[in-house]
Amino acid sequence: MTWRDATETLLAPLITSERVGLITDMDGTLAPIVPNPEDAYPTDRSKELLAQLSDHLALVAAVSGRPVADLHARLDLPGLVYSGNHGLERWENDAVAVAPLVRDYTDALQHAKIAVEAIAPEGVMIEDKGATLSVHYRNAAVPAEINLLFEPKLRDIADKHNLRLFSGRKVFELRPPLDIDKGTVFKQLVEEYDLDAAVYIGDDTTDADALKMAGQLRDEGICHAVGMGVQSDDTPSVVLISADCLAAGVEGVEDFLDWLLKAVMASSI
Ligand SMILES: [Mg+2]
Repeated sequence: MTWRDATETLLAPLITSERVGLITDMDGTLAPIVPNPEDAYPTDRSKELLAQLSDHLALVAAVSGRPVADLHARLDLPGLVYSGNHGLERWENDAVAVAPLVRDYTDALQHAKIAVEAIAPEGVMIEDKGATLSVHYRNAAVPAEINLLFEPKLRDIADKHNLRLFSGRKVFELRPPLDIDKGTVFKQLVEEYDLDAAVYIGDDTTDADALKMAGQLRDEGICHAVGMGVQSDDTPSVVLISADCLAAGVEGVEDFLDWLLKAVMASSI
């Protein structure tokens, strides 16, 4: 079902409810996917619409896997809530603030950082992301020793400090052992802002947690939440399965934001 088929039904409470929230992903949702993620920026139209919506809704929030400082710099709109690192960090008072549960692991992350620095092979770069620690080995002087020698030591450090070790593209990440994802972020924002109705928009696998959470929040009578998937040529099937309705690409999201803005403005006259 496209969102246009749901304006009189599923989406109607977004117009008529008192406290309404819009929670959205950035990459692939507000910003077209480009070959290099460094070059990805939200469209001018989506930024303009979000800026106006933030004057009319109880909450407009951006949720991303990017570090929150990066997310904030790319959207650069006042009045929005920014959640980065998949919910481990928020942007507050022009600075990175780690989620309350993450604070319990701040010391562990710092101790782990010192331990990693002590054993890091030449060319390995350690990035302190506040809520997580990234260990980049793209420029390692001896690539062969990374998986054989370095990774087991990293795993020992993670275990010793009760952190989880993740492996990405030429990067390891040490993270707090917390079950925080975009779904739990969505639920938390609904509760924190006491939302009667809310929509979550996202395009990727990690957004599926939030799209599923929408149905759960509705079923439990907590909030009239709607999950909107963003459809493209290679949308993961879990997004299509989990979404209540769909928008056609970044342009389709812009059209939805435009409809929502006009509808809430008309209803408040
Ligand atoms: Mg995305």
